[in-house]
Amino acid sequence: MKKVVKFGGSSLANAEQFRKVGEIIRSEESRRYVVPSAPGKRFDGDTKVTDMLYACYAAAEAGEEFSGKLQAIKERFREIIQGLSLDLSLDREFEQIAADFSAHAGKEYAASRGEFLNGKVMAAYLGYEFVDASEVIRFDKNGVLEAEKTNKLLGKRLAKCEKAVIPGFYGAEDSGKVRTFSRGGSDVTGSLVAKAIMADLYENWTDVSGFLVTDPRIVENPAVIENITYRELRELSYMGATVLHEEAIFPVRKEGIPINIRNTNHPEDKGTFIVESTCRKPKYTITGIAGKKGFCSINIEKSMMNSEIGFGRKVLQVFEDQGISFEHIPSGIDTLTVYVHQDEFEEKEQQVIAGIHRAVSPDFVEMESDLALIAVVGRGMKSTRGTAGRIFSALAHANVNVKMIDQGSSELNIIIGVENRDFETAIKAIYDIFVLTQM
Ligand code: ASP
Repeated sequence: MKKVVKFGGSSLANAEQFRKVGEIIRSEESRRYVVPSAPGKRFDGDTKVTDMLYACYAAAEAGEEFSGKLQAIKERFREIIQGLSLDLSLDREFEQIAADFSAHAGKEYAASRGEFLNGKVMAAYLGYEFVDASEVIRFDKNGVLEAEKTNKLLGKRLAKCEKAVIPGFYGAEDSGKVRTFSRGGSDVTGSLVAKAIMADLYENWTDVSGFLVTDPRIVENPAVIENITYRELRELSYMGATVLHEEAIFPVRKEGIPINIRNTNHPEDKGTFIVESTCRKPKYTITGIAGKKGFCSINIEKSMMNSEIGFGRKVLQVFEDQGISFEHIPSGIDTLTVYVHQDEFEEKEQQVIAGIHRAVSPDFVEMESDLALIAVVGRGMKSTRGTAGRIFSALAHANVNVKMIDQGSSELNIIIGVENRDFETAIKAIYDIFVLTQM
């Protein structure tokens, strides 16, 4: 059994957190490949080491004195090293970093040092080999991951290690120039390592006990999703639910390696399993509810629209020409409504309206703003009768007016449009009817 274990910044914010991580790793022989993030926030209002590095490098690039800022970063690592009573000095590394900052080595190089240094600490703490990510994770000149090359390099290098620490978030071009993923990218590193070593499981340790059925800012203490498929996760993430970096899914999904989201502060919790497919029934009919505010609808009416072949294409062409992506296009017999992101649409509103008039000569164009979309997602909805009925009666009881309904034929999700001000009420009502009443 081989597991890749990735730990997020809050799991490694100080020595105390490191100790919890050490215990987790040592409690299972199979936890052989460790991917650490940089130290994150120790308390509310604290600054992540990655952000400290960005700020420090910005000062260096502007030609300002940056030694104070670098010292503060060194202090974060000193606190961890001392707290763990490690016999480790990072003086040489910090000297190199100071020299590289003065020579303007690049923002991505700067940001990567948090993971690099934390990887060194982790390797010393566990007694595992340190494998520098810049040797095994390849980016092209545009900063795009070279997946094939990376997989080969990683596979070959790690075949030689029984146990290793591979810092997250960064890699390098062939030339050696360090590049990073976008923020939160250590998740991607973990996934790449899992694929390369053909892991049985990719454990992603964070500060929540898994993927929650809905946003805890809206529903107090929501239930944890035990099992979720990649498709369900994609739907929920698209609608704003975040736990994992989006790009972390592809490498392991293709290989059929499950991801297990776990909580470093509550290792006894089983967390959430993200899998390609499962015959395990979801605990509730729905798997999750997510949503976003800030949409606009453009309602276009024209009598006899339905017999005008190409009408829809012409309307969508106008949006395409303006570089606006559409979210949904529910239609009636003589009406077609296009849902778009308000912020993308607002500045081009008049050009779009003029374009629609020119393209299809509608009888009427009406717009509505401040709308929210809510996705109710779940593989359990397929062939379960009455799901839609329950959603809409719950919304009616909560006095929420439904503006739009969209259910794809996959029956994986139902999308509901409501006014922004009804957003939270609607989510609570749906949660209550499917989860609270079933508990
Ligand atoms: N340290 C990086 C960030 O703060 C990457 C990561 O934590 O995954 O975004």
